[in-house]
Amino acid sequence: MSTDRNQTLFDRARQVIPGGVNSPVRAFKAVGGTPRFIKRAQGAYFWDANDQRYIDYIGSWGPMILGHGHPAVLEAVQKAALEGFSFGAPTEREVELAEAILQRVPSLEMVRLVSSGTEAGMSAIRVARGATGRSKIIKFEGCYHGHADALLVKAGSGLATFGNPTSAGVPPEVVQHTLVLEYNHLQQLEEAFALHGKEVACLIIEPIAGNMNFVRASVPFMKRCRELCTQYGAVLILDEVMTGLRVAYGSAQSVFARDIPGFEPDMTVLGKVIGGGMPLAAFGGKRALMEQLAPLGPVYQAGTLSGNPVATACGLATLQEIGKPGFYEDLGRKTQALVSGLCQAASAAGIPFCGDSEGGMFGFFLFPELPQNYAKVMTTNNSQFNTLFHGLLERGVYIAPALYEAGFMSAAHTDADIAETVAAAADIFKRL
Ligand SMILES: *Cc1c(COP(=O)(O)O)cnc(C)c1O
Repeated sequence: MSTDRNQTLFDRARQVIPGGVNSPVRAFKAVGGTPRFIKRAQGAYFWDANDQRYIDYIGSWGPMILGHGHPAVLEAVQKAALEGFSFGAPTEREVELAEAILQRVPSLEMVRLVSSGTEAGMSAIRVARGATGRSKIIKFEGCYHGHADALLVKAGSGLATFGNPTSAGVPPEVVQHTLVLEYNHLQQLEEAFALHGKEVACLIIEPIAGNMNFVRASVPFMKRCRELCTQYGAVLILDEVMTGLRVAYGSAQSVFARDIPGFEPDMTVLGKVIGGGMPLAAFGGKRALMEQLAPLGPVYQAGTLSGNPVATACGLATLQEIGKPGFYEDLGRKTQALVSGLCQAASAAGIPFCGDSEGGMFGFFLFPELPQNYAKVMTTNNSQFNTLFHGLLERGVYIAPALYEAGFMSAAHTDADIAETVAAAADIFKRL
């Protein structure tokens, strides 16, 4: 009998849950070893089944921007739970949350609440197709928009051919309207619109991609995405499920608006932070687009648990806390301190390394220059990354168990946590 409770649980889990997990990356398949089964969390830490403590840099993959168990959020959730779990009828709190989201992301005129980012992305695309009467969509390699069939697709053999499914169970006909382009490749973008622009319903993009580690869309690229969508009458959808209210109060679109005056998407997809750790996501945009939705318009979309009263309480309390003065300045300062600490430690050990961050989201790479696209991210030395990952884990630091994932800081992380993390990494860099 193993005394490792994580291993015992993993063995049990694999008997009843495919791969032992309810979302694939949790299985540690990319890095090897036994996934940690988490028992509880508080602030910047969580504890596994062996009661080992970790500094948590995934924060549930983004939602836990305040850290775990924030008192104001806990109180709101407890109060809401006492009032009822779910009604299947509208509530005041849904209106309050919608208003709070609109206030923070001014490009949104209306929003609809759903339960997952996948649902939100899929629904936004349906609205765009419904409103334009067109079928084709443009996405970019390395951007993740949830696991809807039409989005599980990789590039075809050329711009004239559309995508190929990346998952079994997705018929080729379902992705035949999805064109996959290289992120930050201006010329390809121009050519794609020249060829197909009049048939394109929407272009969907992560403005700062967090599902291929951390890669920013360049300012000229984002500007051109906006211009071409306007020119061809396509809907520009920013998938801010990860970046929304995470990289800035006004989300990544506010970061781009600093360099591109007047920059706004037509639609935005949100999730993660707006639910504060509860199943909650949203999609929204210009009124004329959102009024296409049932019961007003012909585009159908619905959800039994949409706008769930406990989830909305959690989201609202989270939004109130992160709206306080100085919140993003402090979060951004800490994230930068972590990334620059890691860069210095790597440089001292002679390890090629670079990193970047915006607000409370970061990424780092085991090569010297920040990548511009997925193909470059994937040139990371796997075994070096795995050594770093397991070295950190042994030293009580939990980062994403795959090199193509971003990292997340929370308000609960202290300068001491960051110093401990950098010291752990420095120790590993010396042995790499
Ligand atoms: C997490 C994520 C999604 C999917 O959200 P789920 O809630 O996991 O369905 C979609 N888009 C982006 C950019 C994400 O990071």
